[in-house]
Amino acid sequence: MGLKYNTYLDGTKIYGCYKCHAHLADHDEILSRNFRGQHGKAYLFNSVVNINTSEQSERNMTTGRHVVRDITCRGCGEVVGWKYDKAYEPSEKYKEGKFILEAELLMVVT
Ligand SMILES: [Zn+2]
Repeated sequence: MGLKYNTYLDGTKIYGCYKCHAHLADHDEILSRNFRGQHGKAYLFNSVVNINTSEQSERNMTTGRHVVRDITCRGCGEVVGWKYDKAYEPSEKYKEGKFILEAELLMVVT
């Protein structure tokens, strides 16, 4: 611990953690809004900042088997979404290395 969030984004629309307002992602990095998370609507992002990733785990989702990692906000430790490390279905491969952030846990900070 001790490492606080330190990356500031300067796009026109930035999503931050609803709890501690740490910058998490640029609106321009959204690849898809058609995802569902634990809390409802979720977005697929090309890149995110100020997060830590947890251990890999295998999950069966409606779109097939995936290897994912939970991602937590570096500012407050809240789980804000997950990262796709591997997708087994060829049609889902585009998600590999990409990030899901839960809309419910985000706020627009700019
Ligand atoms: Zn936070």
